[in-house]
Amino acid sequence: MIYRDIIAAVATAPGRGGIGIIRISGKNLPEFAAGLIAHPLEARRARLTPFLDAGGAPIDEGIVLFFPAPHSYTGEDVLELHGHGGSAVLQLLLQRCVNLGARQARPGEFTERAYLNGRMDLAQAEGVADLIEASSKHAARAALRSLQGDFSVLIQTLIKKLIRLRTLLEATLDFPEEEIDAPTRARIAEQLSSIQQQTQTVLEATRQGILLRDGLHVVLVGAPNVGKSSLLNRLAGEDIAIVTNVPGTTRDALREQVDLDGLTVHFIDTAGLRDSDDAVERIGMRRTWEMVAKADLALVIEDASGSIKGGESALEKLPESLKQIRVMNKADLIAKNPAREVSARGQRIWLSAKTGDGLDLLKQSIREHAGWRPAGEGLFTARGRHVEALLVAQRYLGAASGEIGRIELCAEELRLAQEALGRITGEFTADDLLGEIFSTFCIGK
Ligand code: GDP
Repeated sequence: MIYRDIIAAVATAPGRGGIGIIRISGKNLPEFAAGLIAHPLEARRARLTPFLDAGGAPIDEGIVLFFPAPHSYTGEDVLELHGHGGSAVLQLLLQRCVNLGARQARPGEFTERAYLNGRMDLAQAEGVADLIEASSKHAARAALRSLQGDFSVLIQTLIKKLIRLRTLLEATLDFPEEEIDAPTRARIAEQLSSIQQQTQTVLEATRQGILLRDGLHVVLVGAPNVGKSSLLNRLAGEDIAIVTNVPGTTRDALREQVDLDGLTVHFIDTAGLRDSDDAVERIGMRRTWEMVAKADLALVIEDASGSIKGGESALEKLPESLKQIRVMNKADLIAKNPAREVSARGQRIWLSAKTGDGLDLLKQSIREHAGWRPAGEGLFTARGRHVEALLVAQRYLGAASGEIGRIELCAEELRLAQEALGRITGEFTADDLLGEIFSTFCIGK
C-alpha cells in the first residue's frame, strides 16, 4: 500500500443538521489525533469526547470513531468526528485538522484512495457516486448492486474466461512445429463463441444500467395550444406547467421527471415553437432547440381535431436522427377512441390529455423506444464508458474468431479484448480518466 498525506473534509451535506461529520484519512492518525482528542484512539469504538483547539479548549463535543488501516473505507487509517451539524462549528473543526497537518480533500478523494488501495474496483467506485446521485428508488437499488460488485463480477467472469482461452492458445504456441489438431481448434472456437455470447448479454444489461442511471430525455414539441402542458401534467400527475388557452404562454422550458415502471423519463416541455418578436419568447425558443439537440426522443404533438395549425417549420428543424412519436391529442373532440398506429413513417398515438384516455399507449410506446425491460432484479447502474469498453472488446473478439487458424494473431486480439474489459474495473485505466471520474463525486466521499 502507498501511504499518502492526510486528507480531511466535511462529509455531511452543507447546511444545518443534527449531526455533522468530519472525515479524515491518511497515515498514522493516532499521532495526528493527539492534538484533537485528549485520550488515545480505540479501534472501531464510539466514544463521546471533546474536540480540542490549539489551546486545549473544546471546539465541540461529539463521537469519535477510529478505523485503523487496512480495515477502513480507504484502506488507510480513517477517523470520523461526529459533532454538531452547523457550518461554523464544522469549519472550525476542519480548520483545526488543517492546522494539525491535514489537507482539505478533493471531491471523491476518499473513494479514489479506496480504489487505489484495492478496497474496490473502478466500477464499484462509480457505483458509490451513482448511489449518492440516484434519483429514483430503482436507480438507488441498482447503484447499490454496482457498489457491491455485481457488475464487476460479470466483467471479472468474462476476463477469467478470456485468460483461460489465452492460456490454451499460449500452450499451442509453445509447440510451433506441431500442427494444431482439429479438436483443439474446435475447443478454441467453442470457448470464444461462449465468451462472445456472454459479452453480448453483459452489454445489454449495461445499456439498461445506463438508462436506469441517466433516464430518457423526451422533448414535447408542437404548435402553441395543441396541449403540450396538459399532456405533461397528465404524465407527471400534478400541475407543474401553466395551462391556458392563450398561445405562447408556456415560455420557459419545463422539466418534469416521471417514473415509468422504473424508467426515469425527463420530459421537457417547450415554449411554443413559432417565430416571435417577443424577446423573452425568443430566449425560450433557443433553450428549446438546445434541449432538442440532446434529447433521445421527441413527442410531436398535434391537435387531432385539426383546428390548431402550425408547428411544421419546427418539425423540419428537428435533428434527422431524433426518433419521433406523433401524438394526436384532443381525440375526445372528434370522438375518436385511443389508438396506436404503426406505419413505415413511424408511430401515431391518438389520445386525450384532458380525459387521460390513451395515456397508457403512449407510456408503453416510450418504454419500447427506450428498449426498457421493466426493472427486474439484478439490474446495476452503468455508464457510457462501460458500453464503449464492451463494444471495443466485442470488436477484438470478432477479429479473434476470424483468426483461429493463425494462433499468434488470435492471441493478440484476445489480449486486446481483455485489456478493454480491464478498463471497466480500472485494471488498465489512464490517470486522466481517473481524475475525470472522481472529480464528479462530492467532497467528503
Ligand atoms: P400548449 O400551449 O401546447 O402547452 O397547450 P395547453 O396544454 O396549454 O392546452 C391548450 C388548451 O387546450 C387548454 O385550454 C387545454 O385545456 C386544452 N386541451 C389540452 N388537451 C386537451 C384534450 O385532450 N382535449 C381537449 N378537449 N382539450 C384539451
